[in-house]
Amino acid sequence: MTVSVFQQGALIFTEGDPPDCAYLIEEGRVEIASERGAERVVFDVLGPGEVFGEIAVLDAERRTATARALTEVRLVRIDRAQLIERVEQSDPIVRQLLRKLLTRYRSTVAVLRGELESRRGHEEQDPDRGAIAKISLEAALRAALHGGEQLELRLQPIQEVATSRVAGYEALIRWQHPEWGSVAPDRFIQLAEETSLITVVGAFVLREGCRALSALRARGHDVFVNVNVSARQLEAPDFVATVERVLSESAVDRRGIKVEITESQRLDYGRVAQAIDALRGLGLSVVLDDFGTGFSNLSHLHRLHFDAIKLDRSFVRDMGRDHRAMAVVEAIIEIARALGAETVAEGIETPTELDQVRALGVRYAQGYYVGRPVPLATLL
Ligand code: C2E
Ligand code: CA
Ligand code: CA
Repeated sequence: MTVSVFQQGALIFTEGDPPDCAYLIEEGRVEIASERGAERVVFDVLGPGEVFGEIAVLDAERRTATARALTEVRLVRIDRAQLIERVEQSDPIVRQLLRKLLTRYRSTVAVLRGELESRRGHEEQDPDRGAIAKISLEAALRAALHGGEQLELRLQPIQEVATSRVAGYEALIRWQHPEWGSVAPDRFIQLAEETSLITVVGAFVLREGCRALSALRARGHDVFVNVNVSARQLEAPDFVATVERVLSESAVDRRGIKVEITESQRLDYGRVAQAIDALRGLGLSVVLDDFGTGFSNLSHLHRLHFDAIKLDRSFVRDMGRDHRAMAVVEAIIEIARALGAETVAEGIETPTELDQVRALGVRYAQGYYVGRPVPLATLL
């Protein structure tokens, strides 16, 4: 941390200077003013705890005002690199809002100075169209969750390999937007994860999953229903409470609900292990999804008390062509067995693949060859 001291009357920076840092006032008072020839406008007088000079630093434009020490001042320097790093790490939507605010601030200053014409071109540059698209997607998802009709679950059959019986279904969310058509779950789940919407989506999926299980059981189908939860979701502080609330609102047989945990890039294994234990404490089963793509970080595996693993589709695809891939699959199945977990192979697209996983002793199979995801109504 660098502290600079300026004597009373000293200039800290001058309008038009290129920016290199912002300042936090530790002691003393600073005047922010614009001095143009004979004209002088004082914008502000700042005291201890206040920050100045941040605008020019954030958008790398020249200083729009002059800062002068009114008393002796002690200032803490905040380097441009420090500030920019924090902004870069922030949520894209926050970043976009910040940019908009900066643009607006700059044009307000320009209007005040009668310079609007010369700045117009600058204002029209939009550095992050993606963020705008995201905001509208998020607003639409909020509306969809509120209305309820655009979102629904599709159920994909999971077959018991030894008996060829449908033993359960995986619930896969679908969003049918009136104008955009169907929005892929990969796309909006990730978006929801960046906001608190994921809690609402998660509650919806679990509620609908419970409803599907009850409806299927009422028709005499002895099945389970798997619902997806991303590891990010588990990390939300209200996750377990939400699950508990939704379950308490439904009379479903909890042993029939299996929670598939999908991996995200950075995982807090401690939190995930806790959430898994909490879910099992509520009477649910836990499946590690896409197994082999990340959970297999072997130093953490023993801490996760899961009931089943889902072998990722990429293994199923490769094992027919590559004996080394097959060896890896055999080893994964061995690990699961040693840990007392069941195995599910996903992405089975051909009878050959089904035969292969049968030969390996995999308990369940799922994939387009077994059946496509369908609406609940077609199963009743
Ligand atoms: P996932 O959990 O690995 O789901 C399997 C995906 O593979 C599904 O895509 C499914 O339709 C597709 N699939 C099934 N069988 C086959 C096959 O034989 N071949 C091929 N090529 N694909 C097959 P979908 O429904 O688009 O879901 C994509 C991902 O979105 C899911 O991957 C899951 O990570 C996420 N997701 C879906 N629904 C939910 C949900 O309700 N909550 C959460 N958190 N994530 C969800
Ligand atoms: Ca899944
Ligand atoms: Ca999967």
